[in-house]
Amino acid sequence: MQSFDAIIIGAGQAGPALAKRLAGAGQRVAIIERQSFGGTCINTGCTPTKTLVASAYAAHMARRAAEFGVVVSGGVSVDMRRVKQRKDAIVASWSAATEASLRATDNCTVCRGHARFVAPHEVEVGGERLGAARVFINVGGRAAVPAIPGIDAVPYLTNTTALELDAVPAHLVIIGGSYIGLEFAQIFRRFGAEVTVLEGAPRLVPREDDEISTAIRGVLESEGIRIVCGVRDLAVAQEQSGVEVSLTDSGSRTSVAGSHLLLAVGRRPNTNDLGLDRAGVATDARGFITVDDRLQTNVPDIWALGDCNGRGAFTHTSWNDFEIVAANLLDGEARTVNDRIAAYALYTDPPLGRAGMTETEARAAGHTVLVGRMAMADVARAIEKGETAGLMKLVVDGATQKILGAAILGTGGDEAIHSELDLMYAGAPYTVLQRAMHIHPTVCELLPSLAGDLQPVG
Ligand SMILES: Cc1cc2nc3c(=O)[nH]c(=O)nc-3n(C[C@H](O)[C@H](O)[C@H](O)COP(=O)(O)OP(=O)(O)OC[C@H]3O[C@@H](n4cnc5c(N)ncnc54)[C@H](O)[C@@H]3O)c2cc1C
Repeated sequence: MQSFDAIIIGAGQAGPALAKRLAGAGQRVAIIERQSFGGTCINTGCTPTKTLVASAYAAHMARRAAEFGVVVSGGVSVDMRRVKQRKDAIVASWSAATEASLRATDNCTVCRGHARFVAPHEVEVGGERLGAARVFINVGGRAAVPAIPGIDAVPYLTNTTALELDAVPAHLVIIGGSYIGLEFAQIFRRFGAEVTVLEGAPRLVPREDDEISTAIRGVLESEGIRIVCGVRDLAVAQEQSGVEVSLTDSGSRTSVAGSHLLLAVGRRPNTNDLGLDRAGVATDARGFITVDDRLQTNVPDIWALGDCNGRGAFTHTSWNDFEIVAANLLDGEARTVNDRIAAYALYTDPPLGRAGMTETEARAAGHTVLVGRMAMADVARAIEKGETAGLMKLVVDGATQKILGAAILGTGGDEAIHSELDLMYAGAPYTVLQRAMHIHPTVCELLPSLAGDLQPVG
């Protein structure tokens, strides 16, 4: 058996950074990856989808060129092979760079293969046994496949296989109207596909406030995406030119036939084939590894980081997990996941940037809520760019004057939201934002006005 100070299973978003920090501190580290370095984010998640979002945006703006006085001779068409080549090149270079930097790290051994625990601090990979005093699990997750009748007998796409398409589908039917499904919906619509989104909840992205979800629906429908919410009793069957999804909509049985079917109904953790029972590591009913607020499992000196611990589902939460564990182990700090504020973006165009609570959550938590709202149509920069869809929303606690949450659905919303987020981290009252002088013309320049026009609700 090879002995190390630390074993890291999975080279996703937390694992490589942790490997380098531990190795840099003089510890002998083994990091094990079964597939692609950089994990979901680089290979089948953030990087490839945002690369496609950029291609889709280029196509969209090319079609709108005349509005800006720009002449595009001939029609606009999308060469899906070149779109994919661009995406593949970016993904390959980042994944290779992640692997190369690990291999170039002193004290760090890179192992290829699927790792399984054989004992609490022993792991087997490719017939070899590795042991270490500390083990860090960073195995991420994969697309969930719902138990829809007929699903095993039809071809379907997931976020992974949809990225391999080198031709635009004629009609893409997407089951799931949340973050991943909506990004793919707009991408492929802008590439020229007919797109239908089927969502079981009464509205899209149901976690967001009603007005945000309604505005997102409006944007997507304005581009010709068909959206059906509240669908029930789905069943799928193969038909001549693709897949037919039958469903109940508003009490009636109906069906949608598409050339391709994409499943975007959530993720499940890669913990079912990890030998966790041999290590005695506990999971919850959905397979997420149970951790405390310092990300330690129930077994001493075994930690779980990233999507597999169920405490976050984003690259930045996985990266933050790395920072927490590294700071606690190497810097003598006492950081916990409770210190972080929920934050994420939906990369439709316009994007939605989100921080903290929604208005609905704030009211349910018993806060005396003040809300500020502004349409992007009133933002000078948005008008200049010809991108006026969306709105900004600020949620403030009337008693403490602290910002509870914010949503910016609009051009640059994914960046502008950090103005609110950092103020929340600072614990400052909204009046600090209200009195700040921001740069003209930007989306952020209206945030002080937003903070200056708060209204009580509820
Ligand atoms: C389509 C899509 C778009 C997304 N877009 C965004 C976005 O824009 N912004 C954002 O913040 N997040 C986004 N996410 C989520 C983000 O990709 C994940 O939250 C993030 O990658 C999680 O990182 P991780 O470190 O937990 O694990 P992962 O990145 O999932 O890495 C886990 C690694 O462990 C390896 N592994 C698993 N089991 C074993 C084993 N037994 N032995 C050895 N190796 C193993 C896997 O091969 C993988 O490389 C997106 C996800 C998807 C699916």
